[in-house]
Amino acid sequence: MTEESSTPRPSGPTVGIIGGGQLARMMLEAASALAIDARLLATTTDEAAPGMWPHTSVVEDLDDGAIGEFALECDVLTFDHELVDPEVLEALERHGHVLRPGARALSFSDKAEQRVLLAAAGLPVPRFAVVHDLDELEGFVASVGGWPVVMKPPRGGYDGRGVHVVTTPEAGLAVLEGTGGTVVVEEFLELDAELAVVVVTRASGGQVRYPVMQTVQVDGICHIVTCPAPLDEPLLTEADRIAAAVAEIVNAVGVLAVELFVHNGRVLVNEVAPRPHNSGHLTIEACVTSQFENHLRAVLDWPLGRTDLVGPAAAMVNIIGEAGTGNPATNITEALSVRGAHVHFYGKSWREGRKLGHVTALGPDVASAEAVAQQALDALHSR
Ligand code: ADP
Repeated sequence: MTEESSTPRPSGPTVGIIGGGQLARMMLEAASALAIDARLLATTTDEAAPGMWPHTSVVEDLDDGAIGEFALECDVLTFDHELVDPEVLEALERHGHVLRPGARALSFSDKAEQRVLLAAAGLPVPRFAVVHDLDELEGFVASVGGWPVVMKPPRGGYDGRGVHVVTTPEAGLAVLEGTGGTVVVEEFLELDAELAVVVVTRASGGQVRYPVMQTVQVDGICHIVTCPAPLDEPLLTEADRIAAAVAEIVNAVGVLAVELFVHNGRVLVNEVAPRPHNSGHLTIEACVTSQFENHLRAVLDWPLGRTDLVGPAAAMVNIIGEAGTGNPATNITEALSVRGAHVHFYGKSWREGRKLGHVTALGPDVASAEAVAQQALDALHSR
């Protein structure tokens, strides 16, 4: 483990962030504003956060030895991602370390566990089964009236990487063989819209929720988020109610993002992520308190901040590496000439399909805000 700086540290509780991606980077930006004593544990320097934070330790693996040693210098541990082995998390808790969210809530990032527990609690989810072989898969397909179905490995999926739309038994078998034998399979839904609700729960209790966001995904990757979601009020109220109920069940300290489908006029839970989330990035400029600041306040058991929009509407577009246009960061001055566009780069190297940053804009309505954000994005991708 290498400690890279002797910069003086603020007093107060120490927060350890595990994982060095863009969520860690934006948490650290919020930590900096509040002079929180934050430390970072990352596995590579080619990520968003390590290069911008002096108190960074780089280790080969996020195993019990590395995290255990890191935990000794932290009062509270929190997470940039869900990739730490659940057994390591449980062992940390057994040794008295404070994990927020805790190991139990983090286990909710397992899609099979999510589906089973949320369905058992009576929450609306797509029709699904947890299958282990072709017979079980074909049994499910017959029960929903045929192909296509959607197959998802329980762990490790994000940005649509873990989503397989499957139309034949052969393709289904290939997914089963490629994922170690346990797969969530669910009905393929024609979606009217996708929504997300960012919920924040304070360590000692108390919850705030951000206004319902609409998300637009292309090939499973979030491209656009708008707020307020331009849907009828009863649907938004239902989305908010379901998200609150999910948060009660998951009981995750910090930010919990609840992703929802709207299908045939009904709101269904898609997935739950116990961490700050792409659907909440626009809260940095568009809400009284950003999701990142509220996450830190929640894990430190500090009072939570207001979540309401500071203007009528906001939109965020992701900056995603595109083939043939080069690194968008080289066009930053063109994007900054778009009045009202807030450009964020994560300091990541360019790769096609990689999320490199995002642009947020506020406006009198969602369409105007989106137009400004899109204009800046077009400028970034212009050559
Ligand atoms: P990941 O964890 O990889 O982000 P998700 O389960 O959130 O995967 O799915 C990514 C996207 O794939 C969703 O936002 C949605 O657009 C699409 N999708 C997922 N499940 C279904 C489904 N059952 N029917 C239709 N589209 C789906």
